[in-house]
Amino acid sequence: MTGRVFNIQRFSIHDGPGIRTTVFLKGCTLACVWCHNPESIAPAPELAFFPTKCIRCGHCFEACETGALRLVPVGGTSTPVGGGSVPRAEGERGAETPRPQSETPRPHWDGGVGGGSVPRAEKERGAQRPRPQEGWERRYQKTLCRVCGKCAEACYAEAMVMEGRDVTAEEAVAEVLKDKPFYDNSGGGVTLSGGEPLLQADFCADILARSKASGIHTALDTAASVPWAAFEKALPHTDLVLLDLKIMDSARHRTATGVGNELILANARRLAETELPLVVRVPIVPGYTDDEANVAAIADFVRGFPRLDYVELLPYHRFAEAKYRRLEREYPLNGAEPPLAERLDALAAVAAARGLRVKVAPGGRKPP
Ligand code: SF4
Ligand code: SF4
Repeated sequence: MTGRVFNIQRFSIHDGPGIRTTVFLKGCTLACVWCHNPESIAPAPELAFFPTKCIRCGHCFEACETGALRLVPVGGTSTPVGGGSVPRAEGERGAETPRPQSETPRPHWDGGVGGGSVPRAEKERGAQRPRPQEGWERRYQKTLCRVCGKCAEACYAEAMVMEGRDVTAEEAVAEVLKDKPFYDNSGGGVTLSGGEPLLQADFCADILARSKASGIHTALDTAASVPWAAFEKALPHTDLVLLDLKIMDSARHRTATGVGNELILANARRLAETELPLVVRVPIVPGYTDDEANVAAIADFVRGFPRLDYVELLPYHRFAEAKYRRLEREYPLNGAEPPLAERLDALAAVAAARGLRVKVAPGGRKPP
């Protein structure tokens, strides 16, 4: 069957034992303010823009039929010089497609010495390097964008990409199987993550079943804010569950993630009754999850789980900041710093004092 992913990451070493391939599925039931994968949240594909790769060739705005993309003079007004502005309603009514006008700067293909990255395949075909068009810049008007992906198809510099693509379970597993020798040597395998992978429970079950049939260890990374019926589909094909628990107080949980935690905790209790080994992962985010009372409450909640292997503290990091920019979204935690390493050690001690095995993932900050 077919599902939607936004990344298939080989050589993962933080999503379960050994060397793994992590398949990131699109769509999430939460919207954590610290989300490290903002491209995962929306179920639908999204457009992302990498400004440093853009060579201002103009191919994208020529491909755009709604006027969402235009070239405008640097620092100038938003007066369109190509594409033109068409209100969404008109676009939806099938209004005449705005096309670049005659005065629109055209892409240069003169073999100039301008910068910009040219993909290897282009170079090998002997393509000339496009010259950046000084004095012009790209403008994107999100409200006019229909996320059709035509601009991304036209952008061979890969400055515009679509986050989210549909693949069959067979195709995903074929990608996963490429690294089977590494899994065999390291005790690794495949991990399904997201987003919330169980939003696509049938797709998860298909990938996991195919992976197990090929002799691959399977892990499921879930925030557990889904109906138990979704677990029932995936768990028969799962060897390990990575369960994300964030905040024990439901009101605080709602403030930070958009939903309360009642369903999550109910599912966690049911997971603990299965035969599956569990790893509980706690993001440590300053000001949101990093108080001792919260970590103590999580530790108290899971300490009686019979198949709990260990609790892992995952320090907040800022790598996602650039992703928010690419998606043209505001970064909710602007200015936040990763937790200090000594703070992480103190929180680990809180959980260890309750008889739990605790690991701290890399990323703690050294004191200034
Ligand atoms: S096609 Fe790509 S490289 Fe060319 S102007 Fe558009 S985003 Fe930039
Ligand atoms: S995704 Fe489609 S509508 Fe949106 S900017 Fe690109 S070409 Fe235009």
